[in-house]
Amino acid sequence: MLKLENITKSFNGTTILNKLNVEVKDNSILSIVGPSGAGKTTLLRCIAGLDRPDSGKFILNGDTFDPADSTETERIIGIVFQDFNLFPHLTVMENVTLAPTMALKQSKEEAKENASGILKELELQTHVDQYPFELSGGQKQRVAIARALAMKPQILCYDEPTSALDPSLRDAVGKVILDLKETGITQIVVTHDPAFAENISDQILQVKPINK
Ligand code: ADP
Repeated sequence: MLKLENITKSFNGTTILNKLNVEVKDNSILSIVGPSGAGKTTLLRCIAGLDRPDSGKFILNGDTFDPADSTETERIIGIVFQDFNLFPHLTVMENVTLAPTMALKQSKEEAKENASGILKELELQTHVDQYPFELSGGQKQRVAIARALAMKPQILCYDEPTSALDPSLRDAVGKVILDLKETGITQIVVTHDPAFAENISDQILQVKPINK
């Protein structure tokens, strides 16, 4: 279980997150919803260790955990960015195997074997040798998910997973997220789309702009 206690974050004297508390149970899906500017991405970035809250605590499985300071963060928490952030000069297979070989010190063979399994699950097996520019938006997103999963995170975060996609692909992303739940991973999804959140979530956290 991941627990957030009194997470507070300001930018330039403006409080964005004010003593936020939430508990995310293992193997569940939490959606973070709210209007633009409410602080959803800021919260996700704090959870993923890309930003540091001004105060408050993260507790992972009973122990205090600082995502921004832990060398373990990339093995614990993965993130799928809104614009996918794939490496344009690397193939799908290379995108997915890079971090496991560098950070987890997997051999190339081991990383490729793991990646092949994940890419098959995500129906990308025929795209392994392609480059990101050759893929559709939905395929790029699945590669970004595969790349995060290759690090075997306990928690996978998504920043607006439906916003860069054609509306018809919204259900497909929802299905990928729900299917992943069956694999035992905890997922945290930032979305401005309440209907999408309603469809996939076990729990919804509503963030509101402060003082507005
Ligand atoms: P949301 O994801 O809900 O749209 P964000 O978390 O992106 O909201 O942003 C919340 C507020 O924090 C916005 O007013 C935004 O301008 C501000 N903000 C976000 N990141 C920074 C930053 N690095 N520096 C200054 N202000 C920021």
